[in-house]
Amino acid sequence: MFVIMSANASAREVAEVLRVASEECGGTHRVSLAARDGHMVISIVTTGTSFDYGKIGNCRGVEAVEDGESPYRLAGSVESEPRGMFPRKRGVEIPFAGVTIGGNEFVVLAGPCAVENLEDLLETARSVKQAGAKLLRGGAFKPRTSPYSFQGTGDDGLEMLRVVRETTGIGVITEAMEPATIERVSEVADIIQIGSRNMQNFPLLREAGRQSTPVLLKRGMSATLEEWFSAAEYILAEGNPDVILCERGIRTFSRHSRHTLDISVIAAIRERSELPVIIDPSHATGSSSMVPSMSKASVAAGADGLLIETHPDPDRALVDGFQTLPLGVFDALMVELDRVALAVGRRLF
Ligand code: PEP
Ligand code: MN
Repeated sequence: MFVIMSANASAREVAEVLRVASEECGGTHRVSLAARDGHMVISIVTTGTSFDYGKIGNCRGVEAVEDGESPYRLAGSVESEPRGMFPRKRGVEIPFAGVTIGGNEFVVLAGPCAVENLEDLLETARSVKQAGAKLLRGGAFKPRTSPYSFQGTGDDGLEMLRVVRETTGIGVITEAMEPATIERVSEVADIIQIGSRNMQNFPLLREAGRQSTPVLLKRGMSATLEEWFSAAEYILAEGNPDVILCERGIRTFSRHSRHTLDISVIAAIRERSELPVIIDPSHATGSSSMVPSMSKASVAAGADGLLIETHPDPDRALVDGFQTLPLGVFDALMVELDRVALAVGRRLF
């Protein structure tokens, strides 16, 4: 809901509205303030439905109360709502990795598409950590288009991630595909990844919302921003506040790349949400030659991080080798990314 204060409302009157809102919601609400046409507008977001609008409407200094409860009230604002309702950016802390995604630091998550074997995973982790990546990516459970393709190393892969995390001290992000395995994933991972194909797997989203581990929610390849916010809402409404959005390319008529990287969505998210957003240039382009330029563009456009596929020998990678950077190319890219990050007031190291 939006409370529009009269143009000459005092600070005390605003404080009284905030007090009544807190009393009504029992603390389970979020408030933000913005100025609109000379009026203070108080946005009050609740997950409950039994809010007594009358009590707020009767407060001194209140000109109008608008019912703006959107279908994704925690994830972002609907387009018709006043801009700047979510001016604050809420970073997601990853304690083991010692970083906050969505803070001043630009965070890179890198590793193979799939967890294949311990030796390659260890080599990759050491190398990307040395280059400045804060988390190792790698799917143990792989969502594959064909049931005959390699489906991942499953629980063995999770165990390899656990060993590598403990040995090298790098954080880990890995995908959960089913509600039944999400707890096992969450025991190992610092971030649970929900893949593009599962963006609207509602039982999975709900289960992710019950975990205490942060969740990276990839955009469905044909999803609008509104559908993406609504998917994030399932996780947030279940009680997990730590959601990171990840743009990974959408389906368009273009044939020159695997998907079309929607860079403009970074700006749209920034206007309408406080959730951090990172970019996956590997799946978006499907071509290792396009990954460096799209990575740099993402930093410049205000993304909070990158999810990049890299492997000691992409030619023998079991999945997505064609879009995977060799470790040396990844190292060089990190140096360039740092320069772009500094130019836009962020830092990589
Ligand atoms: C992945 O990152 O491993 C992956 C499968 O990506 P997406 O869900 O974006 O296709
Ligand atoms: Mn992949």
